[in-house]
Amino acid sequence: MNIEKYNEIKSSLPDHVQLIAVSKFKPATDIQMLYDEGNRAFGENKAQEMKAKHEVLPKDIQWHFIGHLQTNKVKYIAPFVTLIHSIDSEALLQEVDKQAAKNDRVIPCLIQFHIAKEDTKFGFSLGECETMLQGEVFQNLHHVKICGVMGMATFTENMDQVRREFQKLHSIFNTLKEKYFPNNPDFKEISMGMTDDYPIAIEEGSTMIRIGSAIFGPRDYSQMLSPEI
Ligand SMILES: *Cc1c(COP(=O)(O)O)cnc(C)c1O
Repeated sequence: MNIEKYNEIKSSLPDHVQLIAVSKFKPATDIQMLYDEGNRAFGENKAQEMKAKHEVLPKDIQWHFIGHLQTNKVKYIAPFVTLIHSIDSEALLQEVDKQAAKNDRVIPCLIQFHIAKEDTKFGFSLGECETMLQGEVFQNLHHVKICGVMGMATFTENMDQVRREFQKLHSIFNTLKEKYFPNNPDFKEISMGMTDDYPIAIEEGSTMIRIGSAIFGPRDYSQMLSPEI
C-alpha cells in the first residue's frame, strides 16, 4: 500500500480525469485505508468479491466493475454498482438492463472495445458496436445508460503502440458520439490507462484511469482462496 504514490498520482491529474483505485485481490482493510485518505472510487473485477466488499465497507463508496462480467453474475452487483466499464456483448447489456429494472434503477455502462493485439482481451469492434446500437434490442433497453467507452492497450514495452491503441479508442469514442450520442451529455467517458501507461492515456484523452499496483502494490494471486471470491 503506497499512500504517497496515491497522493502523487492524484495531485498530478488534470481536473477532467478521475482516478479509479483498482482494489481487486486486496483486502477490505486496504480499501478502508485509502477511503480514510479521501478516495471514494474503487475498481473490482469479480462480482462476488465486489459484493462482499460492498457489504462490509462504507456505503458511499463508488464501485466500478472493470473485468469480464459473466451474465449469471450481474445480479450480485446490480443493486449498488456505480459504473460497469466492461460491457463486451449485447447479451451482457441485456442482462444488466434486466437486473437494473429489477432493482428499479438505471445502471451507467461503458462499452468495452478490443484495441489490443492480444486476442485474450474482451471487447467489441466498432462495426459490432454499431450493429448493436442500430438494432431493435438496444432501442428497447431503458435501464442502462451508455456513458462512453473503455479499452485496454497491449501489454508491451512499445509505448508507440500503446499510444496508437489509445488514439484508436479516442477515435471510436468520437465516431460514436457524433453518430449515436450527439446530444447526450452522459456519453462523455473514455476509460483508459493503468499503472504502466496512464500518462500516455491522459495525453490521448482519457477521462478515467484505473490504477491498481502503483497504489496497492503487486497482486499476490497465490493468496486468493478461490478465484470466485
Ligand atoms: C487490474 C486491472 C487494472 C489495474 O492494473 P494495474 O496495472 O495494476 O494498474 C486496470 N484495468 C483493468 C481492466 C484491470 O483488470
